[in-house]
Amino acid sequence: MRDRMTKDLTDIVHISSIALTRRTVLGGLSGGLAAMALPLASAAWATTAAHTIRVGDIAVNVISDGHLEVPVAFQLPRTSGSEVDALFKASGIDAPRQLTSPTNVTLVRTQNELVLIDAGAGSTFQATAGRLADNLEAAGIDRGAITKVVFTHGHADHLWGVIDDFDETERFPNASYVISSTEWDFWTHPDALSRMPEVLHGMARGTQRILKRIESRIERRNSGDTIAPGLTYLGTEGHTPGHMSILIDSHNEHLLIGGDALTHSIVSFARPDWPWGSDLDQDVAAGTRRRLLDQLADSRLPLIGFHLPWPGKGYVERNGTAYRFVSM
Ligand SMILES: [Zn+2]
Repeated sequence: MRDRMTKDLTDIVHISSIALTRRTVLGGLSGGLAAMALPLASAAWATTAAHTIRVGDIAVNVISDGHLEVPVAFQLPRTSGSEVDALFKASGIDAPRQLTSPTNVTLVRTQNELVLIDAGAGSTFQATAGRLADNLEAAGIDRGAITKVVFTHGHADHLWGVIDDFDETERFPNASYVISSTEWDFWTHPDALSRMPEVLHGMARGTQRILKRIESRIERRNSGDTIAPGLTYLGTEGHTPGHMSILIDSHNEHLLIGGDALTHSIVSFARPDWPWGSDLDQDVAAGTRRRLLDQLADSRLPLIGFHLPWPGKGYVERNGTAYRFVSM
């Protein structure tokens, strides 16, 4: 797997063959970055105005689905309280009991396609999430114009939002769907529930119900596949077995949509080896984080993380033997 992922990112980004300097990858971002002053349909989460980024010819919007509240004790089950306190204190903040986790959905506009990367949580997962439809409307984006919904993985906060629970209709009625083959097989396997801890059974049933509902229009793809012009699937497994990031590539400008490969702006970067509670395979996820951080720091490739501080964009710097996330 290590070789495959390293080869994927190297081949896809051509790190060895082009001068992927910070200027080349960030120029398009900073030049085109503009926070749009839009009215909010929901005032429950204060920072929901869409952000617009340009990557070559491709326009990228980040739209908030709200946020999640997750106990620290759940996410860091094998780390002592004193270690957690020390890490947060070193970053100048008191260690929280609850992690407030933004949910940053990405919308990618290419010449002929409008691609939504992840669909948010919908209305039944957590009361603080499920704002995507309102925030798309507030940004003047017609859900019917979205041509493709690409999933990074099958967790509720990324997938359940494709169905409107009020009337059981599809929220993106003209879209086709893309998921990784491994992810599809994992969630839809007849023995899926017996292969995962009981705490996940409710989520698995919800994801299975939705995947069955959209089965006739979902494509299953693999790492290295082009999923839309300028968009490539990149295997970043561990958080779930088939977790994918998406590399956007246009005119030598790049942006990685990292999904949940790097989920917390302090812990994932400063302590990538700490087991993370929502990772299904915590050892594989830690290995993926290490390799991804190494490659992102070397290339200065900018990143959007689904749960990183709104709107989730930044780059990776080395910090001793670990790393830090630099928001942009
Ligand atoms: Zn997530």
